[in-house]
Amino acid sequence: MAAKIRTRYAPSPTGRMHVGNLRTALYEYLITKHEGGDYILRIEDTDQERFVEGATELIYDALRKTGLKHDEGPDIGGPVGPYVQSERQASGIYLDYAKQLIDKGEAYYCFCTPERLASLKQVIDGKEVTVYDKHCLHLSKEEIEKNLAEGKPYVIRQNNPTEGTTTFHDELYGDITVDNKELDDMILIKSDGFPTYNFANVVDDHLMGITHVVRGNEYISSTPKYNRLYEAFGWEIPKYIHCPLITDEDHHKLSKRSGHSSFEDLLEQGFLVESVVNFIALLGWSPEDNEEILSLDELIEKFDYHRINKSPSVFDYTKLKWMNGEY
Ligand code: GLU
Repeated sequence: MAAKIRTRYAPSPTGRMHVGNLRTALYEYLITKHEGGDYILRIEDTDQERFVEGATELIYDALRKTGLKHDEGPDIGGPVGPYVQSERQASGIYLDYAKQLIDKGEAYYCFCTPERLASLKQVIDGKEVTVYDKHCLHLSKEEIEKNLAEGKPYVIRQNNPTEGTTTFHDELYGDITVDNKELDDMILIKSDGFPTYNFANVVDDHLMGITHVVRGNEYISSTPKYNRLYEAFGWEIPKYIHCPLITDEDHHKLSKRSGHSSFEDLLEQGFLVESVVNFIALLGWSPEDNEEILSLDELIEKFDYHRINKSPSVFDYTKLKWMNGEY
């Protein structure tokens, strides 16, 4: 018998529950329950700059209302959430793992000042980005020890190759290859001692035994960096299912401006939770029999992730109204 599958919904509490995030949560739940697996909820709140007060409660509320019940940790009705990274980080686990990578030569301390980093800024495809030049990779052991002893602020960066290519497999999109020049030495531990969500995400996916990672396709470009972390630790890489972008009827990314980009917007407009769940399930997926009105149990029964559509999904407001019984 195949091992039980384990997925996780890993939102960052940065505001209202975007329709794309709810769809990720839903697809993950349907994939898991279709196979009788375990669905884990993990709040990724180590990025203090993006954290929005009250957003964690919005996530719990949306999951409770839609019936996407996680399988481990205290109930979301209770005072403590399921897995919360800011609480997990207090034990220093992420820093310990980052230090293991330093010992293996897969990561390094970086003491560069904000001024030096600013001087590395470049404009690529019209966007300002900092491509780190590996300056601190070449510091001697003595220089590193001196800087640490003096209490100089530092971050820990991943040491990625700059030549060759990296390939990974996505269950929907197939093999994806990126040029290693694009990998950049991403930060694993920030100067405040907190892990970046990129790093905590990988460490926790491993520690929590996650077998399938389901998320939005904006993460496709980061996945090779995540896989290099798995390889550096000698951990098994999970299966990846990246879900297509959701666009408005004008084919632009569904944004706040649309007025219906979040679960809360839709409830405020009077849509029933069941209609919203049904509609979101069909935003990029359809069952073999093309049935359109489906309960959560029917969705679980029919959900085959191989039928998720690869092209962007258009948010059709008229269809949502129809599903809500408005015509
Ligand atoms: N915390 C990330 C987000 O909210 C999750 C990325 C992932 O699922 O791996 O977008």
